[in-house]
Amino acid sequence: MARYIGPVCRLCRRENLKMYLKGDRCYTDKCAIERRPYPPGQHGQNRVKFSEYGVQLREKQKVKRIYGILERQFRLYYERASRKKGKTGEILLQLLEQRLDNVVFRMGFADTRAEARQLVRHSHVTVNGRKVNIPSYQVRVGDRISIREKSRKIERIQQALEAVDRRGVPSWLEVDKEKFEGVVKGLPVREELTLPIQEQLIVELYSK
Ligand code: SF4
Repeated sequence: MARYIGPVCRLCRRENLKMYLKGDRCYTDKCAIERRPYPPGQHGQNRVKFSEYGVQLREKQKVKRIYGILERQFRLYYERASRKKGKTGEILLQLLEQRLDNVVFRMGFADTRAEARQLVRHSHVTVNGRKVNIPSYQVRVGDRISIREKSRKIERIQQALEAVDRRGVPSWLEVDKEKFEGVVKGLPVREELTLPIQEQLIVELYSK
């Protein structure tokens, strides 16, 4: 699947939210949204009043950008979520959290989801001992995610693991840093998504 390859700090500034898309840099005073807390572009500093549709659209764009997904694939996630029993918005977020690239990021093997995606694409990750190189692979409860033996020397992975305590590992995952592996203990919990996401706005937008 295609992915966004443009400048990511612009995305944070557009959504007026620190989305932590650049790893270490996001925690320093070089963070673009700290320096220029207004939308990018020539008219970025003009006042804008959003319509109801505009608010819903921005919420959807925000979530897509956090998980690094483009419209078509995001829509497919929404359709899958709407077919399941329960709150569509919460199920949508749960499906996104269960993506392999997100789990690799959450476990601390990568500093950002984009980096995690690359680790998966380049076959550094195994699921239950089998190589999986599909970033959108949906993990299940009980799955064991590991970094392949020969990839454990990669400095970026080691550095990311050292820094993971800064953001913490969610309770539905368990990580053994020494072994470079983790287990999916349960399904993602909505309360642990600390980024301000109003998923019901996305449901309203797509239900029109
Ligand atoms: Fe967003 Fe990180 Fe860039 Fe700051 S440094 S604007 S948090 S991607």
